[in-house]
Amino acid sequence: MKVDELLQYDREHVWHPYTSMKNPLPVYPVKRTDGVHIELENGQLLVDGMSSWWSVIHGYNHPALNAAVQKQLENTAHVMFGGLTHAPAVELASRLLSIVPSGLDNVFFSDSGSVAVEVALKMALQYWYAKGREEKRYFVALRGGYHGDTWNAMSVSDPETGMHALFRGTLPMHFFVPRPTSTFGMPCEQEDFMAFQECLRHNHTRIAAVILEPIVQGAGGMWFYSAEYLRKAYELCYMYDILLICDEIATGFWRTGKRWACDHAGISPDIMCVGKALTGGYMGFAATLATGGVAHVISSRSPGLFMHGPTFMGNPLACAVANASLELLEKGYNTIETRVKEIEKRLREELSPLQHLGQVEDVRVLGAIGVVEMKKPVDVAAVQADFVERGVWIRPFGKLIYVMPPYIIQPKELRALTTAITQVIMKYE
Ligand SMILES: *Cc1c(COP(=O)(O)O)cnc(C)c1O
Repeated sequence: MKVDELLQYDREHVWHPYTSMKNPLPVYPVKRTDGVHIELENGQLLVDGMSSWWSVIHGYNHPALNAAVQKQLENTAHVMFGGLTHAPAVELASRLLSIVPSGLDNVFFSDSGSVAVEVALKMALQYWYAKGREEKRYFVALRGGYHGDTWNAMSVSDPETGMHALFRGTLPMHFFVPRPTSTFGMPCEQEDFMAFQECLRHNHTRIAAVILEPIVQGAGGMWFYSAEYLRKAYELCYMYDILLICDEIATGFWRTGKRWACDHAGISPDIMCVGKALTGGYMGFAATLATGGVAHVISSRSPGLFMHGPTFMGNPLACAVANASLELLEKGYNTIETRVKEIEKRLREELSPLQHLGQVEDVRVLGAIGVVEMKKPVDVAAVQADFVERGVWIRPFGKLIYVMPPYIIQPKELRALTTAITQVIMKYE
C-alpha cells in the first residue's frame, strides 16, 4: 500500500485513541523507530518526547530487548496459563516481587493497565466478601485521577474530565474527594486533607478501598501532589480498615525519580498496579500485586478462587521482554536514577523560564516528566503539526504541553524538545 492510500484507508476505517471517525485529527505515518527517534514515512526524524505514553523507557529497537523477544519467540510465543506455567512468568514474578514496596507478595499478570485496575478492584471486593463484610463495596478516588478506560476503571477516574457524563446511570457510583492542592515538595495542609478524612470517617463501613495514583496524576491532568498527603492517606486507610490500591501504571520504574512513586512517601500499599513501562514499551502487559494478607483472605472463604483469568495471562513473550527491561533497570539502577535526576535537572533549567510568560499558567517538573500548563486549551492539531515541523514528537492535551522522554535521551535531544516547546509557546501569546 502506498503511503497516501494507507492514510486514506486509515482515515476512513481505523479508529485512533479518543477520535472521531467522521472528522479525525491528522495522523502521521511511521516508517521506523530507533533509540529516541521516530522516523516518519517521508524520512523526517522526530525526537520522541512521549515514550509512547510513558512506556518506551529504554528507547525503541533496543538490542537487549529485541534479543529477549527473539530468543523467546524461538521457544514459546504463547501458551495458556491455566494449568501451565513457564520460566519467563515465574522469573518475572520473582524479579517484580524483589523490587516492589515491602509486603507485596503475590502477583496477577494481565494484558493491559486497565485490566490490572479491574483486577485490583475485584481483589478488594473479594477480600471483603471473604471477610463476610459485603457491605464494604465502594471505592474512594481522587478527582483528577485516571485509572483506565474499562468500565470500573472509568468509574474511579475523574468524573468531569473522564467519561461519567457520557455513561451516566450505567457506571457504578463511588466516592470522590477533591484533587490534592498541596504540591509536591510541600507539606500537606490540614485543610487540604480534610475532605479525604471526612469521606473516610463518614463512610468507612461501606468503603472497600481507596484507589489513587501516588504523587503524579497522569492523564487526568499531569498534577504532582504532596508526599505527605499520600502518607496521610495511607495512615488513614490503615486506621479505618480500608485497603489502599496504588496505581503505579504511569509512575512506576523510576519515572518520578524514584523506583516507585510510593517511595517518595515511604509507603507500601495493599494492592499495586504496574503496566506501561513494564515491558519497556514493547507490548501490552501489566501486573496487579497484592500483599500475602490480601491474597490469603481472598482464598479463605469458599470457593476461595480469585475470579479472573485473561486468555493471554502471563504471555511468555511479554514476560521475557519485561525480564530484559527489568534487568536493564536493576543492573544499573544507580545509573538509571542518576539519569532520571539529570533529565529532571535539565527539564527544570530549560522549562522554568517559561513560567513568566503571560500565556503560561504553571511549569512543573518531577523526575523525567516536564509539564507546561497553559492558561487556555491548545489547538492539538495545529500545535502537533508545529512540533512535527520542528522535528519533535510531543502530543499535548487540554491545556497541557508535556514531555516524558525515554531515559536514554541525550542532553542535545532533550534540548531539542524544550526548544521546540519554547518556540511553539512563544507563538501562542
Ligand atoms: C495508562 C494508565 C492506565 C491504563 O492502562 P492501559 O494499558 O492504557 O489500559 C491506568 N492507570 C494509569 C495511572 C495510567 O496512566
